[in-house]
Amino acid sequence: MTIRLRRTNVKFSIWILKFGFTEGLSFMSNTKVLVIGLDGATFDVIGPLMDNGTMPCLKSMKETGASGKLTSVIPPVTAPAWFSLASGKNPGKTGVFGFQVRTKDDFEFEYLSSRFFKGNSFWDLLSEQGKTVGLVNYPMLFPPYPINGFMVSGLGSSPDQEITYPESLKDELNQVTSGYEIRVNYSDKHYRDADDLLITDINRVLDKNVAAALHLMKTRDWDLFMVVISVTDWIQHALWKYLDPSHPLYDQGKHEKYQPEFDRFWGRVDDAIARLMEQAQPGVTFILSDHGFGPMKKAFYLNTWLQKQGYLKKKGFLKKLFKRRAKGEDTRKGSRLLKEKLDVQKTAAFCLEQNILLGNIYFNHAQDKPGLREEIRKKLNDLTDSSGNRIDVKMYQPEDVYWGEHTHLAPDLFIVLDDFKYSVEFRLSDRLFLDRPSNPNRTGSHRLEGIMMVQGPMISKTKIEGAHIYDIASHILYLSGVPIPEDLDGKIINHLFTPSYLESHPAVYGKPRPFVMDEGFRRSDHVEVEKRLKALGYL
Ligand SMILES: [Zn+2]
Repeated sequence: MTIRLRRTNVKFSIWILKFGFTEGLSFMSNTKVLVIGLDGATFDVIGPLMDNGTMPCLKSMKETGASGKLTSVIPPVTAPAWFSLASGKNPGKTGVFGFQVRTKDDFEFEYLSSRFFKGNSFWDLLSEQGKTVGLVNYPMLFPPYPINGFMVSGLGSSPDQEITYPESLKDELNQVTSGYEIRVNYSDKHYRDADDLLITDINRVLDKNVAAALHLMKTRDWDLFMVVISVTDWIQHALWKYLDPSHPLYDQGKHEKYQPEFDRFWGRVDDAIARLMEQAQPGVTFILSDHGFGPMKKAFYLNTWLQKQGYLKKKGFLKKLFKRRAKGEDTRKGSRLLKEKLDVQKTAAFCLEQNILLGNIYFNHAQDKPGLREEIRKKLNDLTDSSGNRIDVKMYQPEDVYWGEHTHLAPDLFIVLDDFKYSVEFRLSDRLFLDRPSNPNRTGSHRLEGIMMVQGPMISKTKIEGAHIYDIASHILYLSGVPIPEDLDGKIINHLFTPSYLESHPAVYGKPRPFVMDEGFRRSDHVEVEKRLKALGYL
């Protein structure tokens, strides 16, 4: 994959920098920016619903504004995708490739948290320039931190914790929503064969998300307001099996019952967007998703495959038992797998429990096995399923898809089987494949192409081409009249804007903002975050 940076009005920016005219920027835009994130939204689902009248608000946005696909990061997983969106940087610059982040060149991991967001996100830049920002339900933005505005944590947090800045906001949210809620553990046993309950809970959490956002919009001033709706991702994971007749868990009766429920859910999302826009009266609105969606029909047990191929060796039973009795304090998955389960001396390659949607393979660099990557690539290329049919295996190497100083922390190889139709499982199993999803409520999975829709007087009626998730931060800064740090990876997509707006609003670039991590984070939060993600089926 080749990624090219394009920048608008470079000459003018240089002029600006040369004359030091970066403060104040009073001639720049004071546009109120509304951003609505729909986790996992894809045109494959919402396109037909816009056409058949179920989603009139988005249809009108499409007809009057700009819309097109938004390419996610590799892997197209919620945590790194929303993080690249916030930071405007590719994972090679931030080191965020999954829900868990390697902060050093070893296998110690920690969960993505606000420690990573703080100081690196577009809302921090806006806040520093005196803009008022409001963030609601942003995934992994926990714990909340002080900002010029307000912040409500999303996925990875729980309402029994401090999830708001300022702290007093939580009582208000509890009041206006009769008890604020964040998550629906859709893959939990609780929801097996309980689709009605799942849909009820998802609709209720959607309503509470939206009620909280509307309340904050009404009662606070803001220049940027961003709300992320996560239930859109969860309902698709759970119900995809009823949308696709070729899915191994498809059931005609349930299709007839739940396809209309699924469509009605998206109608409610559309209605929520209309209400948010009506209340906000923004100068410009963005509708974005962090990745797309599609069917997940089968499972591949990657560590089992590595073991069978002789690349991975387990520790003996007694050693494992001894390690468990020793009960190390470390609960982080990566190091636990390595220390407790693997014979590190004899293991050349392994997959860590990062997510099950995309296979990650790490090499044991201490072993320095010559030609290892090529050998594994060749074997995976020839991979056949349980019926002997060759599987389409796409492989991504970090140096081809990332750039920046943290690229070396990425897995040595990412693999995608049959266009994400397989989950790539971490668990060691007695089988290599499963001809159905490993969890009956995880039947859809992520795809690389999400959505981007933009509407406002400065926006052209056009099809968006070539947009990448890390372009978003640059656009929000540009529209807010705040200098775009030179080291953001995002480009301004010129054809999105009317020529007169571009001419009268030259993009202004500021000093680079090297990636920093806040040191005040409480490590004890990891255990709680892990429990929550596990319950949600992310791990
Ligand atoms: Zn997501």
